Amino acid sequence: MVIIDGLDKRYGNQGADVSALVDINLKIEEGEFICLLGPSGCGKSTLLKIVAGLIPATHGRMSIDGKAVDGPGPDRAVVFQDYALFPWMTVRDNVEFGLRARGRSAKERREIADGLLKTVGLADFAARFPHHLSGGMKQRVSIARALAVNPSLLLMDEPFGALDAQTRETLQDELLRIWREYKKTVIFVTHSIEEALYLSDRIVVMTARPGRIKQVIAVSEPRP
Ligand code: ADP
Ligand code: ADP
Repeated sequence: MVIIDGLDKRYGNQGADVSALVDINLKIEEGEFICLLGPSGCGKSTLLKIVAGLIPATHGRMSIDGKAVDGPGPDRAVVFQDYALFPWMTVRDNVEFGLRARGRSAKERREIADGLLKTVGLADFAARFPHHLSGGMKQRVSIARALAVNPSLLLMDEPFGALDAQTRETLQDELLRIWREYKKTVIFVTHSIEEALYLSDRIVVMTARPGRIKQVIAVSEPRP
């Protein structure tokens, strides 16, 4: 379970502080699919980055499975809108990247990477470089790379925002399939209410200036 307790975030801007988040409180159950929904500037990305441990909160506490968290950790992986793949590495090496740091043998890394590339339908592209792939394919590689380190929490920042409508729908369905199969807790940032309704168990609705949680909606509609 993820517990976020009384979290505030201010960005310092040469004396003129920007209050990005105010009093964020949230409990996320294991295996839940949560969407953070709200207009541009409401602090969705900021909240996701804080949960990822990429930037510090100004105030407040966070814990994952009972352990206080400040800073990144192997229990969390992030998928970005712009894929953030390493262009000089093959698809397989991108997926293996996080496993190297974890001291897995070459054989283990390859098994895990090839298994995940199969999961995302890119087994035939393992030796290609990212620039040979379409946007949807790049995002599949990025998802495989995130899953490779076996995080309990998958953090996604508008991952399908740069894709055309048809590719987005395909990837939404693939993500739901992966979420069910791998039993991850997902926090997914979007500004699309359709996307949030389609994907999530609960929608955290945020408002801007400053960023706050306005309400949390349980989605009762069964998914496909
Ligand atoms: P999005 O709406 O997709 O989150 P933004 O345009 O808000 O994107 O932000 C893009 C990037 O610029 C982010 O990395 C964010 O942290 C940074 N950023 C946003 N606003 C400011 C600002 N006022 N000063 C400095 N960096 C900013
Ligand atoms: P969203 O993801 O909902 O678009 P962000 O988290 O990117 O919102 O931004 C929330 C607020 O914080 C915005 O007012 C944005 O301009 C500001 N902000 C984001 N990143 C930075 C930064 N690095 N420096 C200063 N202000 C920032």
